[in-house]
Amino acid sequence: MSDAQQFLLVLILFYVCDCISQIGLGSVAFVAWPPWRWRVVMPRNTWGRGNSALVFAGPLPPLGSLFVTSPWPLSLSPQAISSHVSLSFGPPRDAQTSRVIPIDAINKVESSDVEIMINGNVFAVCATPDLASELAELITRLRELPEQEREPVIATALSSSLDTRHLHAEYAHFLQRSRGLRISCNLLWCYIFLLCPLLTWHYGFLWMFVPLVLGVLFFHVPTLVLFSMTHRRLHPEDSTGRRAYFLKSLLCPPMAIRALDVVSKQVLARFHPLAVAQCLCPHQSTTEFARGLLLDLRYPLVHDGLSAEIKEVDQWYRDRTGDLFRAFLEEGGMDVESLLCPPAQLDKSSRSYCPRCRCIYTLVNGTCTDCRGVELVPFDTVSQ
Ligand SMILES: [Zn+2]
Repeated sequence: MSDAQQFLLVLILFYVCDCISQIGLGSVAFVAWPPWRWRVVMPRNTWGRGNSALVFAGPLPPLGSLFVTSPWPLSLSPQAISSHVSLSFGPPRDAQTSRVIPIDAINKVESSDVEIMINGNVFAVCATPDLASELAELITRLRELPEQEREPVIATALSSSLDTRHLHAEYAHFLQRSRGLRISCNLLWCYIFLLCPLLTWHYGFLWMFVPLVLGVLFFHVPTLVLFSMTHRRLHPEDSTGRRAYFLKSLLCPPMAIRALDVVSKQVLARFHPLAVAQCLCPHQSTTEFARGLLLDLRYPLVHDGLSAEIKEVDQWYRDRTGDLFRAFLEEGGMDVESLLCPPAQLDKSSRSYCPRCRCIYTLVNGTCTDCRGVELVPFDTVSQ
């Protein structure tokens, strides 16, 4: 392998590593793959560590964006708040640390970065500081209301996370604000991975070295400037993150190509993944995602060691969010009943199915191997 080929290989490796983003478990990523087709990615921690997972963004032009969003990291009822969330995108959450607190027993609520603090202790961790602040305000408001007036306030707050008109407006605003950066990132990609190898192959590595470095600067510096401007407009409060990424990208031009991921990641974080899927993804992907979400709410994974109070809050919250999601999908024209119908029996050896993941089993009864504690449903029962 020549020096030029080795150099290009190093650049490609750097770039591929920068296409990988770390996101929290329970979050959902929306990744644009060429040509501008959005994919829903539910992370598995087999690709990450602890409470995080890795997501691979589309590496080829036209480079899109990466949006990360997640449901609320807590469950609410008019009586209490629980840190247990049965809805699980990906691996089940650890229920052993789940807590519940009656709303009337809350003295102080505040947010600190992504954490919600209740009575001076960390109660839940959100995907973004904005969501933490929003939920802290909601809990404060609930605390000030009598119990019978809390339900409509919770319903309104949940509905606002499904507000697709607002979501479309935020998305359009983002596209408008990031237009220059998107063009610059795509040009930098084309220069580093298309033009540079072609010129080097034609003229030789040594002869081309200085013009190539000057060319990289010609595309690299404007990309960094545009990144700073776009990031400041969209995330004015995050000056530390902006400076850190700027310095890293300054030293490594391929990293600057992924600047769009950095500015886009939290733009739609306050919206529920279901609303983002409906706005961005093709119909088939949205249907599959919605089916998984509704079945997850109807047939939750079984967690051991949950107190009766946590189960009560969880049941109330699941019922309300389930009703809300069904109404949202039906309003969008989706036939929810057909979405939730049992899978077709493949042949006579198919004896049962999992109502949550719809896997088909040859067993007559038992529990699903993928869905902890969920009982299989015999096909005979369905046909009777
Ligand atoms: Zn299952």
